[in-house]
Amino acid sequence: MNAAADRLIPLAAPGPLDRRGRPLRDLRLSLIEACNFRCPYCMPAERVADDYGLDAASRLSFDEIETLVRGFVRVGVRKLRLTGGEPLLRKGLPELIARLSRIDGLDDLALTTNGSLLARQARALREAGLRRLTVSLDALDPDLFRRLSGGRGEVAQVLAGIEAARAAGFGPLKINCVVQRGVNEDQVLPLAERFRGSGDVLRFIEYMDVGNCNGWDPRGVVSSQELRDAIDARWPLRALDAQYRGEVASRYAYRDGAGEVGFVSSISAPFCGDCHRARVSADGQLYTCLFAAAGSDLRGALAQGEDALTERVAALWSGRNDRYSELRAADAPRPKRHVEMFLIGG
Ligand code: SAM
Ligand code: SF4
Ligand code: SF4
Repeated sequence: MNAAADRLIPLAAPGPLDRRGRPLRDLRLSLIEACNFRCPYCMPAERVADDYGLDAASRLSFDEIETLVRGFVRVGVRKLRLTGGEPLLRKGLPELIARLSRIDGLDDLALTTNGSLLARQARALREAGLRRLTVSLDALDPDLFRRLSGGRGEVAQVLAGIEAARAAGFGPLKINCVVQRGVNEDQVLPLAERFRGSGDVLRFIEYMDVGNCNGWDPRGVVSSQELRDAIDARWPLRALDAQYRGEVASRYAYRDGAGEVGFVSSISAPFCGDCHRARVSADGQLYTCLFAAAGSDLRGALAQGEDALTERVAALWSGRNDRYSELRAADAPRPKRHVEMFLIGG
């Protein structure tokens, strides 16, 4: 560490705070911008060509990713989530995971996937050192699932992936479901039923105005409150305490002991005040908010090594002032253009 970075990050200190006093703890790193699905709320087929994807050369290499993550750990990051696009499309993923899992100071290494390629990769990911998995699953009905994946996915493959992940030793898994009114509300109780008692934690996520190409309409949002009430009426729930500050999901236990269910309410109950998360796209742009209009290049600093990267991230984080969801809730002026979700992975 050079002298400047040393001053920035004394060992015992929590790293830089942004302009709203928030430390950086959490990194979401996109490994790939391509995806084998075309979910209409993220990457609609009519807006994103089938062969979409930067050429592989423009993605950060494994060496660059390792340096980047080491740098973020020095600035305070403790949790790393790998995402995409679809991260399981990235070649050599187990090798990358093995390298990242050896980084000192990282307490948590997780990955979010659409699950379609999980059955054949779960064991290798586990053996490489991946500890936690989140699988997206918006419907159990095969026809609806196919439609929600843009005609690309089969729910049976995802369910097989979930089984394979359990067999490989992952668990509890997180299962994420984005609910849209008039689209998959009828899947909520079947999904809850399926995962009750499984040990896995189903989480319902409010449909968000991410990106520019999904034609978001607030009337499509089903609030967490409404979902909670529907589930509670069928299987009574009781609220659980947050496990840590800044936890994005509110957690509930089934009163009959069948495990827990979560709700992520970024529309109806924004949590910007506790947002400790940065996002980096596959080509090395830092986004300090899910709804940011633009990113900041990290590649130039990365080329100079870990110290330069650390200083650049610390400086960018110190200037951060984002609170988009709070502004939306207050109907205050806010950026109209947003980075696409498939570039930064949620
Ligand atoms: N392809 C992987 C997957 O689908 O799990 C990882 C990347 S995907 C962008 C990460 C998460 O973002 C998924 O759980 C997906 O459901 C969620 N997502 C995408 N568009 C969304 C939207 N408009 N509102 C809420 N969540 C969204
Ligand atoms: Fe692909 Fe995930 Fe976006 Fe669906 S949500 S299009 S699976 S990146
Ligand atoms: Fe964080 Fe931006 Fe989401 Fe607020 S809107 S919680 S600042 S990512």
